[in-house]
Amino acid sequence: MSEVRNVIIIGSGPAGYTAALYTARASLNPLVFEGSVTAGGALMNTTEVENFPGFRDGIMGPDLMDNMRAQAERFGAELVADDATAVDLTGQIKTVTDSAGTVHRAKAVIITTGSQHRKLGLPQEDELSGRGVSYCATCDGFFFRDQDIVVVGGGDTAMEEATFLSRFAKSVTVVHRRDTLRASKAMQERAFADPKITFRWDSEVAELQATDGKLSGMTLRSTVSGETSHLQVTGLFVAIGHDPRVELFRDQLALDEEGYVSVDAPSTRTSLTGVFAAGDVVDHTYRQAITAAGTGCAAALDAERYLAALV
Ligand code: FAD
Repeated sequence: MSEVRNVIIIGSGPAGYTAALYTARASLNPLVFEGSVTAGGALMNTTEVENFPGFRDGIMGPDLMDNMRAQAERFGAELVADDATAVDLTGQIKTVTDSAGTVHRAKAVIITTGSQHRKLGLPQEDELSGRGVSYCATCDGFFFRDQDIVVVGGGDTAMEEATFLSRFAKSVTVVHRRDTLRASKAMQERAFADPKITFRWDSEVAELQATDGKLSGMTLRSTVSGETSHLQVTGLFVAIGHDPRVELFRDQLALDEEGYVSVDAPSTRTSLTGVFAAGDVVDHTYRQAITAAGTGCAAALDAERYLAALV
């Protein structure tokens, strides 16, 4: 039987590494499952991050995550580039199983598994991500000053992204599969009133075109007639939703109506004692590196207080 640790952290983005840093500095000797494929989280797949405070001239996403990782390690966090493949979070002692089948035990668990943005599923989408294709207007809008942009989606997020982007863009075209929006009335009205925003109803993106490795246009297809047309744009924001990574916990933890882990806000306590959650697996509102790091810190402090009260 393995030793009982103080805390295990599942996930390695800004939330996980910040929780690791804080729990390590509190001498709680955290074990961090970083994930086998994308250790470091969502920012490993981006280029420049200009809005993480403290980096006046910006920093490359992977460099920022390497710094966070090294900072957590410096204070003794134990990091493993492996997936947590099963958990039992219900008892006083929690168990987390790794990919080799080894069972790790801890008094507290912090969940920071993030969320996955939905993709359109187009052939060139991945290679053009960060080269014209984006999934986050707050993160990347600034790079699209005076450009023609498409936003795909019909919900609140898509309308929010379109109105936000119209501040920078020359034009914003919202492409939506249907002829009505799912977004709230207020969000719709704001978008309709914006002179830079136009709508392509009953339409979907059929193909992306690139010039010199950057997005230069796209083919739209009517979802009604199948007819195609060309649109010359240098920006595409995909706003068709996110899926929180909750598969491991779905049967054990309370989730909110959108499937994210429910916490007793403003704390990071979940529905199970000794289990805390932070970052984008909880947050469907802000979804930023700094907010994920902030709640990662809160989860570490919540876990620390929980453990102190056990003794
Ligand atoms: P994530 O960063 O998603 O990390 C979660 C980690 O947990 C992943 O590595 C995952 O593999 C791991 N994991 C999941 N399940 C398991 C498991 N079972 N076992 C082990 N590990 C697991 N935000 C900004 O503030 N500024 C930006 O400029 C910016 N640019 C972005 C660009 C792109 C392309 C994307 C996709 C996002 C961007 N964001 C940006 C948003 C930001 O990256 C996220 O808000 C932030 O990374 C969320 O942090 P997190 O720690 O909650 O989760």
